[in-house]
Amino acid sequence: MIPYAKQDIIKEDIDAVIEVLNSAWLTQGPVVKKFEDSIISFTGAKYATAVNSATSALHVACLAMNVGPGDLVWTSPNTFVASANCALYCGANIDFVDIDPQTYNMSIESLKKKLKNAEKNSKLPKVVIPVHFAGQPCDMPEIYNLSKKYNFKIIEDASHAIGASYNFIEDNPENPNNKLIQKIKIGSCKHSDITVFSFHPVKIITTGEGGMAMTNDQNLDARMKLFRSHGVTRDENFMTHPSDGAWYYQQIDLGYNYRMSDIQAAIGFQQTKRINNYISRRHSIAEYYDKSFQDVPINIPWQLPNTYSSYHLYVVTLDESINFEQRSRIFNLLRAKGIGVNLHYIPVHTHPYFESLGFKKGDFPVSENYYNRAISLPMYPTLLDVEQDLVIKSIKECFA
Ligand SMILES: *Cc1c(COP(=O)(O)O)cnc(C)c1O
Repeated sequence: MIPYAKQDIIKEDIDAVIEVLNSAWLTQGPVVKKFEDSIISFTGAKYATAVNSATSALHVACLAMNVGPGDLVWTSPNTFVASANCALYCGANIDFVDIDPQTYNMSIESLKKKLKNAEKNSKLPKVVIPVHFAGQPCDMPEIYNLSKKYNFKIIEDASHAIGASYNFIEDNPENPNNKLIQKIKIGSCKHSDITVFSFHPVKIITTGEGGMAMTNDQNLDARMKLFRSHGVTRDENFMTHPSDGAWYYQQIDLGYNYRMSDIQAAIGFQQTKRINNYISRRHSIAEYYDKSFQDVPINIPWQLPNTYSSYHLYVVTLDESINFEQRSRIFNLLRAKGIGVNLHYIPVHTHPYFESLGFKKGDFPVSENYYNRAISLPMYPTLLDVEQDLVIKSIKECFA
């Protein structure tokens, strides 16, 4: 079976792990710091907090923003459940903003409408979590402007999107005929408060399991580091009284053990060096798929102008005329041919747990219509040309 995603582990990764295993320190230590620093240089953000998963990163991000009972958090229904669960862990309420039918990201139009209504009913969100689906950046400058207007915080769920970027276009105050174009990397937090990455093996780079939260806000960073390790501090500045001595620490909040180990960070540090190579290979694969599907009745992933996707996923959608049963038949046919197709995502609000919170089918129709027609094809840097040809041939056979 050709999987839809696969990690790439090379000798340098393995050697780095062995080096840590032979060292005096296994849990969070100097290599975690080195990995955090490497992602800081890669993204341009000021601070980084490595944790044991993106789910934990989303949780500490919400905690750092004091998300709690009575608060509202909004995210996209077209995501992994973790983007929504982080709010529920904090006792807050979750709601969703339907997706754009072209990008499958949170729709800016729907967000604007929902904010306007929420303002009338005094039910504005405390935090909005846009998800860069498949690696394609959301329209962050627009979401950022809305956050200033409606006073909410932004956590980017960039689990798919390390290595992605977008052009930020502004008027040039010195020359009105000229625009200023700035390339913004996902993770720089130029238009958000916190950005979260995942290092699960299917994602762009891996640490086995792992995640990271980036920010430019020193206070948010300090709080995320506190919540990652039991709410315990050794910094006298945060203690209620001077330290009792060299052994002393204080628990000043209720935190967790969400630490990443140096063993994991060693893999991550090596993988970071290869992000740009991985992404350009993913782009070549995407271009070849795009070209090959020109005369096949499927929609290739549409790209928002001025964005550079990390292509975590390559999702095609079937024609509007194709129903759920026909999609299932094509999906099963591809699996039978050894193509490990997958589906991203089951709209979060349609899961039984979310139905128990009051959501129901029909609440976010664009995400549901998308779900009925989507198929994720194999996409990872070590996908061989012959394997990709087999995927394309199998797709074409489905429509023959
Ligand atoms: C993978 C993923 C997560 C969770 O990541 P983990 O590191 O497995 O916790 C959250 N959000 C999105 C969009 C993801 O794809």
